[in-house]
This record gives sequence, C-alpha cells and structure tokens, in this order.
Amino acid sequence: MTAGDNERYSRQILFQPIGANGQQKIRDATVTIVGCGALGSFQAEALARAGIGSLRLIDRDYVEFSNLQRQWLYSEADASSETPKAIAAARRLRDLNRDVQVSSFVADLTPSNAEDLLSGCDLILDGTDNFETRYLLNDISVKFSIPWVYGAAIGSYGIIMPVKPDKGACLACVYPDPPASLQKTCDVDGVISPATATVAAIQTALALRMLVGWTDFQPFVLTVDLWKADFRRMRGVDRDPHCIACAERRFRFLDGGRRAPVSLCGRNAVQLHETARPLDLRELAERLRPLGDVRVNEFALRMLLPKYQLTFFPDGRAIVKGTTDVALARSIYAKLIGA
Ligand SMILES: [Zn+2]
Repeated sequence: MTAGDNERYSRQILFQPIGANGQQKIRDATVTIVGCGALGSFQAEALARAGIGSLRLIDRDYVEFSNLQRQWLYSEADASSETPKAIAAARRLRDLNRDVQVSSFVADLTPSNAEDLLSGCDLILDGTDNFETRYLLNDISVKFSIPWVYGAAIGSYGIIMPVKPDKGACLACVYPDPPASLQKTCDVDGVISPATATVAAIQTALALRMLVGWTDFQPFVLTVDLWKADFRRMRGVDRDPHCIACAERRFRFLDGGRRAPVSLCGRNAVQLHETARPLDLRELAERLRPLGDVRVNEFALRMLLPKYQLTFFPDGRAIVKGTTDVALARSIYAKLIGA
C-alpha cells in the first residue's frame, strides 16, 4: 500500500480488527454484487469507499425515478436516460475511487451464466430481489466454496444471513424452500430506505469481516424491523444433515436450465427470456421502426407503444413494462418479433 492509501484508509486501518493487514486483504479481494438495486448500490458504494480491489456488478435492469427514493449511486439524469444500473453504478464508483477495478454486466444471473460470472471471486453479496436467484447463488456458493451474505428487505423489515459453506449452515439448510413471509414484493408492500440501507450496511460489515479473516465464524440469522427499532438474532442455526444443497450436493437451481419469465419486483413489468441468442440491437431497431417509436443505444433498445414499453437487451432478454401478466407480455413480444 502507498502512503496515500495509508492516509485515505487511515480510519479503517485504525479499527483494530482490520488493521494494515486487513486493509491489504480488502485491497486484494474481488467481490461480486448480484443486483444493483437498493441493497447492491449501497454495498457497492461502501466497498468502493473501503478500498476493495475489484467489484463485479451484475444487474439486469435500468434506472427509473421510482428507484431514487432508496437506491444509492444513481441520479435523476440516470433515470431520465434509463441507463442500465450496472453501467450507471460503475460510472459513479469510478468518481468515488478510481483505484477500484469495476466490471459491469448488464445481465440476468441465470443457470447458464452463473458459473462464468461468479467463479473466481472471493465473496458474493446478495443484492437481488427474488428467491430464485438467491438459491442459485447458494448453489454456486456451496459448489465452489465461495462465501456469500444473504439479505432481503420489505416494508420496514429485513433479514440477513452470512454463509460460509465449509463452516455451518447454508441458505437451504435454514430455508429448504423460499420462506412464505418474504414472498411478498415491494410491489405490494413498499419499502423504506432505512430498512434497505440497514440490511445492506450489515451485509457489508459481515463481508469485510469475512474478507479480513473471520476465524470463529458461526452462522446466524438476524431480523430487523426499522420502524420498531427491533433487532433479533437467531443463534444455533445448524447445518441440516439432509440439506439438498450442502449435504446431498444436488444443485436444483444451478442445474435447472433456462430462466422462466418473471414479473419484476415493484415494476409493473415482466422480464422475458424468449431467446438465448444475443440480439443485434441496431438490426432490430431497423425492423421495429415502422411499428412504433424506437430508441437505441449501445446498452438497450427501447420501443414505446401506446400502453406498453419494451426494452430489449443485447443478451437476448426483454422487459415488457405496463403489465404483470406473463402471458400478455409474451404475446406482445411475439407480435413484434414474430417469434
Ligand atoms: Zn445446506
């Protein structure tokens, strides 16, 4: 580390559990953040400021005005231009700390790309908004022995669990199936920014602790209610000897094949994976122009119809805004693309 580094990170180095050795470990680490919404954007900013070596940002979506109430890093200009979150986040992070290597992936984490996107990192942070992706993260974590920190927030409520797959329970040990109380989405129940920021801050603290060496690690589940200022820690979270993931090593989500269409959290929108092939956005723009208002840049193609807005991404995905009905979204897509 340089003299400049010692000055810049001095308060963190003075914090005894980190120290100069810990700071060097943070500098050498690569962290992948899956989902750059309220949780992921906070984690990314905090880790960039802490001097993390490399950040990989994965997000499938673009910035909207309804994100700005709780999502860090993003500006009104990003929402106006509907910039993909992974791109907007990387730009802002470079302004905050140019020593951090940031790579952005405008993509949905799926069984087919999860190994490529997540392998070789030291730790994974959960910034997702859905359980399908979290169980996929858990499968990757167990299969490749990568620690991760689960986090979720809804309303004023949040939940956090750190997972070190060689040391105790994984997510599937505690929740063999998605917990019913967290199946709700912020679509219906809303969410306040103190809840998302607290969950993300705790996830980031646990991530730093894992990176500098957490020798007496014991898994736990922490629940928080920010409105009531209530924090509860469940101890004695034990490994399930019959856990489908970490005991039987059957990776249901990783081996599950292609992603099904999903309604997106808080968005009145559906994401479709109708093709696995990459899309040539310029060529598609030429085809669609006679049918409506089309705007295209290097990241996305946007088509405005009277009641719906479609966004096509180079990785073959599309987001249909204006409905939560998957069948309707597929039929709108098929009419346009002729699939
Ligand atoms: Zn397990």
